[in-house]
Amino acid sequence: MTVHDVAVIGAGPAGLAAALTLAEGGARVVVLERSESFRDMPGEHLGPAALPVLARLGWTPRAPGAVPLSAIVSHWRAGPPVRQEALFDPYGLGFAIERATLLSDLAARAGAAGAALRFGSTARGISGRPGDWRITCDSGDVTAGAIFDASGRARRVARALGAAAGAADDLICHHRVLAGADAGAVELVLEAVDQGWWYTLALPRPGRIAAGFVTDRMTGAVWESALGRAPATRARIGGFSECTRCTVPCGSPGQHLAGGAGWRGLGDAHAASDPLSGLGLARALSDGREAARVYLGLAPEPVPLPPRSAETATRRLLYAEAGARWPRASFWRARTEDKRRPLALRERA
Ligand SMILES: Cc1cc2nc3c(=O)[nH]c(=O)nc-3n(C[C@H](O)[C@H](O)[C@H](O)COP(=O)(O)OP(=O)(O)OC[C@H]3O[C@@H](n4cnc5c(N)ncnc54)[C@H](O)[C@@H]3O)c2cc1C
Repeated sequence: MTVHDVAVIGAGPAGLAAALTLAEGGARVVVLERSESFRDMPGEHLGPAALPVLARLGWTPRAPGAVPLSAIVSHWRAGPPVRQEALFDPYGLGFAIERATLLSDLAARAGAAGAALRFGSTARGISGRPGDWRITCDSGDVTAGAIFDASGRARRVARALGAAAGAADDLICHHRVLAGADAGAVELVLEAVDQGWWYTLALPRPGRIAAGFVTDRMTGAVWESALGRAPATRARIGGFSECTRCTVPCGSPGQHLAGGAGWRGLGDAHAASDPLSGLGLARALSDGREAARVYLGLAPEPVPLPPRSAETATRRLLYAEAGARWPRASFWRARTEDKRRPLALRERA
């Protein structure tokens, strides 16, 4: 059995940023990914905050996998929509991306630097101790001195080592990629409805639009009826045909356990953001690169961040603006009243 310095669980943006940095620094690294290949997933807006870390990873957004966003249009508060033009923003508004293209590029660079990437390899169990971990995996067990948990909201390692699994809320996203003759300008359109909010984004592939409806699992709201209440979204995707669909959890429980002896959590496995923030990709990439630099002795251990209370407060204000339109709607009340419960996190001794 090959012995690795680091096993990275998950080949999302956090895992690949870590693997690339580790491999370039000379570490023997293996990446275990449960999917058979990279596929497009929700999260197609690469905000400007992600660009500096991507530049450090040697990746520049360019066609055909990435096209610049021209505007963000928000049907959020009562009254006319608010339009933010990229032209007038010194940092731009980021890019619409084919996520699979970004991940494939990062994986190719990590592979060229010496990282081993194993698709179809679900990490199912962890035993051993720091310096001598054993990961039970579909494609054969792996031993490694350290583990980076980049398994996203699944938080495979954290849960195996005893962290609580609960999320602070039951937010989910019903997501579809749709195809039509003309997807229009590369704009991100947000629209609040009584049971949640919609986003639509024209993708780099001609004629494709990503659409997501974010709601509470318990509202039981379904795509068709929610679309009926979202005139701007309906106007944009009406007549388009469905290419893919999925429903993913996107509750934002805030700060998790960052790690323990011989392992650490990266990206969403460390602290998942509310999708409304548009910061998930930037955070995941930075987390991955920074954790690798700490491991390689190129950066000091970061000072633990305080819980994201300021961010949560800002988000609550945003939610309150839309929620004022539907004061009795359970979705908005749940987000404007502070009902978040602290997570009791335990670490196995
Ligand atoms: C609906 C929605 C919309 C979003 N929109 C945006 C957006 O527009 N912009 C933005 O910046 N962010 C957005 N985000 C957030 C962003 O997608 C995440 O923050 C980001 O993908 C986190 O990256 P990650 O590498 O930590 O985890 P992930 O991207 O979740 O990657 C985790 C990887 O681990 C693999 N994995 C899981 N379990 C195992 C296992 N046991 N063994 C092996 N592999 C495993 C998974 O298959 C996956 O490939 C959105 C999120 C959601 C839910």
